[in-house]
Amino acid sequence: MDDAHQDVIEALARVKAEIARAEKDHGRKAGSVTLVAVSKTMPATRIRSALVAGQRVFGENRVQEGQEKWPGLRAEFPGIELHLIGPLQTNKVKEAVALFDVIETLDREKLAKEIAKEIARAGRAPKLYVQVNTGAEPQKAGILPGETDDFIRLCRESHGLIVSGLMCIPPAEEPPSPHFALLGEIARRNGIAVLSMGMSADYDPAIQLGATHVRVGSAIFGARH
Ligand SMILES: *Cc1c(COP(=O)(O)O)cnc(C)c1O
Repeated sequence: MDDAHQDVIEALARVKAEIARAEKDHGRKAGSVTLVAVSKTMPATRIRSALVAGQRVFGENRVQEGQEKWPGLRAEFPGIELHLIGPLQTNKVKEAVALFDVIETLDREKLAKEIAKEIARAGRAPKLYVQVNTGAEPQKAGILPGETDDFIRLCRESHGLIVSGLMCIPPAEEPPSPHFALLGEIARRNGIAVLSMGMSADYDPAIQLGATHVRVGSAIFGARH
């Protein structure tokens, strides 16, 4: 039996209303923030409920999990846009370029080189965001803030890549707003219009500071186990 997952449908409506309210509160244009529904660890049946409710933009953090769940859902629902929001290993670039519409985690030259090679080979070019480790946390992926301008230039000039966005995950134990502001500054001086920042706990301040994409998981799908 196919469960209706009423909780997902209601939570999704709530988050969309909250985003619309945040746009209004913070003087952002209505509809200027895209909700990326983060469906990692969630089974296809729960994701299907969000699709039936009209959601089309989703985020997954693992290539293999994406390959298991999304080809089937794509066959059922038109217009899906799938974002990779987790670290990408160079040996998974081929699969990632084939599956994802946006790769949000470009953060090192070797990866830039492999992605450029695969785009040329496959003739399919996902949008690319550079992940910035705004808190300079040693355990976290992303390019350091002080190295980001050079890295973006390298991606563009040496590898012919189009860098269309920046992404960050602020340190869990710090107020997120300074990190969102920093990402916005780096984007401005590099001519980048897309800012992927803000998750379930902090998408309101992210929208205040210019997020164009918020990545929201648990507030829609519930806690992950
Ligand atoms: C899991 C994840 C999210 C969503 O987190 P929630 O707190 O569940 O909203 C957003 N971005 C990234 C990179 C993630 O890995």
